[in-house]
Amino acid sequence: MISNKQLQKLAARHGTPIFVVDHDEIRRNYGQFKKHLPRVQAYYAVKAEPLPEIVKTLYDAGASFDVASMPEFRIVYENIKRMPAKERQAWIWDKIIYANPIKADETLRDLDPYKPLVTYDNQEEIRKIKRCAPHAGLALRIRVPNTGAMVELSSKFGAAPGEAVDLILAAVKEGLVVEGLSFHVGSQTTNFENFVQAINLAADIFKEARDRGYGRMNLVDLGGGFPAPYDESVKPFSVLAGKINAEIDRLFPKDIEILAEPGRFMIATAATSVVKIQGKAVRDGKVCYYVDDGVYHTYSGIIFDHCHYHMKAFRKGREQICGVFGPTCDALDVISMSENLPADLELGELLYSPNIGAYSHASSTYFNGFPPAKVVHVNR
Ligand SMILES: *Cc1c(COP(=O)(O)O)cnc(C)c1O
Repeated sequence: MISNKQLQKLAARHGTPIFVVDHDEIRRNYGQFKKHLPRVQAYYAVKAEPLPEIVKTLYDAGASFDVASMPEFRIVYENIKRMPAKERQAWIWDKIIYANPIKADETLRDLDPYKPLVTYDNQEEIRKIKRCAPHAGLALRIRVPNTGAMVELSSKFGAAPGEAVDLILAAVKEGLVVEGLSFHVGSQTTNFENFVQAINLAADIFKEARDRGYGRMNLVDLGGGFPAPYDESVKPFSVLAGKINAEIDRLFPKDIEILAEPGRFMIATAATSVVKIQGKAVRDGKVCYYVDDGVYHTYSGIIFDHCHYHMKAFRKGREQICGVFGPTCDALDVISMSENLPADLELGELLYSPNIGAYSHASSTYFNGFPPAKVVHVNR
């Protein structure tokens, strides 16, 4: 990890706010994923943090990618372009899955020449794919329990298990090829039974499809949801991996390809935000710090990701409950109403938040004229 001294040096050199990305930590997370889930190919979910430098580091480490828009596709394709032309096509499924179940006509037309692997979960999408991307391979996204996930994803996407095989056969009838199944157990899933249940559901659907005459499915995509160790309540990744390995080995023969789409797991612990105190007031007896980054920027995950980040000071002092607010004029721009911080911090002093890599800087805006934090890469 980056030391506090290094963070302060970087803030002195680059100014604040900064979003410090540690590429050694990204490689470490990828290594942990591969070590504990050796049968699973990791498709990094680019939306968690789409910086091209991060995509390149993961590409070089051997990762594949889950994209959900053409701009995300192009960020990944920049790396694939380095391959000789002949190998590119053979590689595309190994390297990219287009995992947005709903796609615009134009997107499908743009994707079709690449013969992509795409997800779908409804009848209209089958017709659209047939019309606009007949060379695509398909993975059916099924709805699975999201119990206890920090971010629930099952109300927006996923075919009900009961209609899954109908949707597989409907696509096949249109002349399309269904390669397998995908699901998402919900982001930051600390209830590991979600994975167990989802894998079992997928195995049931494989069997029903075979019984009804379709035996060509050869991949299972476990989606995302692998939790980042934000606090001690998150059980070790090795425990989750043990459960997943046991289920996939029990239920799927060796020639069935298993992939997953970890976003948060790869990047959450790999970035730290450093901010500067630029205002201070005491309101209703509480010390309030006003800093130069907030919920319209790096701390956007407080709103969109239901995530809480800790604010830490670089020096000790008599701690009390303080408020920390972002720079915009919106009263929503609150980082924390109750953070344990030294009460005697002065204007110009720095605060930092570790483990802020996922769904944070990725959804920064320019609201109120404040630009996103400057990105600083270390250990590239
Ligand atoms: C967002 C998303 C992911 C990544 O989820 P994490 O919880 O960050 O691992 C994976 N797959 C799909 C389809 C997604 O929408």
